[in-house]
Amino acid sequence: MTNNHSSAGSLSRRAFAGSLAGAAASLAVPGLASARSTTARPQAGPLRICHMTDWHVCPERRSAEGSEQALEAALASKPDLILTGGDLIFDSFATTKTRADEQWRIFKGLMAASPVRVEHCLGNHDLWGWNKDKSGATGDEPDYGMQKALDELGLASSWRSFDLGGWHFVVLDSVMSDGGSGYRGRISEPQREWLEADLAANRLPTLVVSHIPILSLTPLVWDSDFDRGDHGRVAGGEMHLDGPSLHKLFRSNGRVKLCLSGHMHLIDDCRIDGVTYCCDGAVCGAWWKPDANFAAPTFASIELEPDGNFSRRMMPTGWVNA
Ligand SMILES: [Zn+2]
Repeated sequence: MTNNHSSAGSLSRRAFAGSLAGAAASLAVPGLASARSTTARPQAGPLRICHMTDWHVCPERRSAEGSEQALEAALASKPDLILTGGDLIFDSFATTKTRADEQWRIFKGLMAASPVRVEHCLGNHDLWGWNKDKSGATGDEPDYGMQKALDELGLASSWRSFDLGGWHFVVLDSVMSDGGSGYRGRISEPQREWLEADLAANRLPTLVVSHIPILSLTPLVWDSDFDRGDHGRVAGGEMHLDGPSLHKLFRSNGRVKLCLSGHMHLIDDCRIDGVTYCCDGAVCGAWWKPDANFAAPTFASIELEPDGNFSRRMMPTGWVNA
């Protein structure tokens, strides 16, 4: 939204800060390579993940300290996987490349300290330059748009799937151009084709993560422009415009159990036709500022059972924005 987790749970705050400093100092090494090769703990019982969305890391607002505290809190829950939810950096959409570079440097320094596998989902603030006036981008740069985030994180694609601990994970790219300098929540046609084939070939209980909610109650309570007299309106930047169609796909597939999102910096839990859609707040709360209209800094701790059942708990990071 645009508004302007073997565990390290026993790491002491000092040791963790030390590892962060070391990681930041060695940023020439691709940050996540070592984290990816590390298995969190021997698989016994449910798979435990942390969904950490909307970090909005920047040089100001003590965001690095707040993010470090969030990561430490997540690792204390001994997750097998940390799944991010996009908007990892404060903003790259409407900012110069130099400024974007600085934000990615801080974010990658944070994540390099994670001994747990991290998988990234990307958001509207992660792609570079779509606001050409403010970013100075021409659109011809090789890393224009989502490519810069992919390059920074060493990802081949902004959508993909993988299996872990008896579950199938689908990472979607929610952010499509509106044809101008803005964005709309939906997946592209090639992504839709890929998704249908991916789900058809899969036999495991499935978790889908997108940045923008596929279905959510949060726009209904957040958007003061909802009441249009004879109908209600949900803006295309707040919820997937193809949400109803994606839901029909998930319902007919039968294996999609849980869809996680961020973007709204609010928390909800919607269950329909056997599919649960959860919007999981924001690591940054209200962009690292105090604002009671949004969730306090938080992340979701989720246990995934082999039979497709799951439980989810929202965990405050303990950080208080000032
Ligand atoms: Zn956000």
